Amino acid sequence: MSYKEVEALDIAFLRGVCGEENVLAGDAISVDYSRDEMTPEDMRCMPDVLVKAASTSQVSEILKYANERRIPVTPRGQGTGLVMGAVAIHRGIMLDLTRMNKILELDEDNMTLVVEPGVLIMEVRAFAEEHGLYYPPMPGEKSASIGGNVSTNAGGMTAVKYGVTRDYVRGLEVVIPGGEVIEIEGKVAKNSSGYSLKNLIIGSEGTLAVVTKIVLRLVALPKRTVSLLVPFSDPVTAIKTVPRIMKDKVLPVAVEFMEGDVIKAAEEYLGKKFPDHSAEAYLLLSFDGATKEQVQRDYEVVAQLCLASGAADVFISDTQERQDAIWSARGAFLEGIKASTTEMDECDVVVPISKIAEFLKRKVELEKKNGLRIRSFAHAGDGNLHVYILKDAIDEKAWKVKLGAIMQSLYDKARELGGQVSGEHGIGFMKKSYLAESAGPVAIELMRGIKKVFDPNNILNPGKVI
Ligand SMILES: Cc1cc2nc3c(=O)[nH]c(=O)nc-3n(C[C@H](O)[C@H](O)[C@H](O)COP(=O)(O)OP(=O)(O)OC[C@H]3O[C@@H](n4cnc5c(N)ncnc54)[C@H](O)[C@@H]3O)c2cc1C
Repeated sequence: MSYKEVEALDIAFLRGVCGEENVLAGDAISVDYSRDEMTPEDMRCMPDVLVKAASTSQVSEILKYANERRIPVTPRGQGTGLVMGAVAIHRGIMLDLTRMNKILELDEDNMTLVVEPGVLIMEVRAFAEEHGLYYPPMPGEKSASIGGNVSTNAGGMTAVKYGVTRDYVRGLEVVIPGGEVIEIEGKVAKNSSGYSLKNLIIGSEGTLAVVTKIVLRLVALPKRTVSLLVPFSDPVTAIKTVPRIMKDKVLPVAVEFMEGDVIKAAEEYLGKKFPDHSAEAYLLLSFDGATKEQVQRDYEVVAQLCLASGAADVFISDTQERQDAIWSARGAFLEGIKASTTEMDECDVVVPISKIAEFLKRKVELEKKNGLRIRSFAHAGDGNLHVYILKDAIDEKAWKVKLGAIMQSLYDKARELGGQVSGEHGIGFMKKSYLAESAGPVAIELMRGIKKVFDPNNILNPGKVI
């Protein structure tokens, strides 16, 4: 599909809507807007115009205008995505939503929080906690926006017990490409009224509508939390312990897997020491509950199970300070790996929990066969593995060939094991071919049909997902 070029009169219109200072064009746009956190150097792409909208009515006017003239629009939160979802690959308008950053309403009777999409995850969590409430989703990147998290259905470290972003969205206000504003679902706790537009838009990566308001569900703040760091002599033994933990009638909040080398990379990146880094692999778990006794009962069961499954030790962290130090280091794993190499790409597959060890064996084989460093950590309690292939010093041509072959082999293995292409980072531009293979032609055609109903002129984040 061909699009209209952005011209001076389009920029003048956008300035009329959002104000001179909120519409930047050409060299005035920072290169940061040409990429997200995983965009290869040679795939960066600048938008023609960057528009910082401040209200739903501005978003509506911009979409209506762009739709009538066939100008592509790429919504963007904080740009922390990992699949080029927020990169303007067809140029046009980049719609920055970070100025829509107000917390609008806390409703303690309904346990809901209404926010604009530009509010950061760390702000949502902190605000809820100040009021004795809890917003459970905890992705590694706390400076991502809630609009970005909703649009990618972000997961994170607490999903084992609490679920993912989708489980905390009660309602949405969205603008569809024609400029119409629709309210979906609101504050109700359940709904069987027709097709779930809310669930279609969550995780649609800005391809169906722009999210302008979110009604979040909050829960009671847990009173006690304890974390366990469990070293193992090898990764496969560590991973094999995970399904046993999940069967044990105790529900941890988080079950994270990490390789010793990943911890060392994070230590180097942060300039801080983890409580231990001498083992080949670790599980990091957390537990929460209403009383100290209940939490202790749960973690003791799991600690015994880990020791019986081959763990070398169990380190217990029960002070808030110690737990914060461990979990903030855990949050820096991706950055640590990235800082240790020249370029990398990632695979974010999710497989049934019982198959994680088998998937991990494929990763180990590929590392040996290709002579490249491949690093991994995982939200193991959800079967969601993050595998990073590192370029280091090999030349560009060999890198592209090896990277393609390794990625294909990883995605093939995930499919063979009954897994999915992405557990939480989404498809964006980078993973489209793997989604097409995995979902198959009928499902992809259905998705194309849905896209067409929302966006007949294909102006909203074109070239992403399908
Ligand atoms: C160090 C690090 C750790 C991470 N850890 C995790 C993790 O544990 N779990 C996880 O799930 N992700 C993780 N991520 C990925 C990333 O943070 C998430 O994908 C996040 O949801 C992106 O939010 P953002 O505000 O940066 O969105 P962006 O990157 O700006 O956009 C992401 C997508 O959402 C769309 N979008 C953004 N805002 C809107 C809106 N208001 N309306 C419609 N579409 C919109 C964009 O078009 C794009 O397709 C991590 C990233 C980094 C860098």
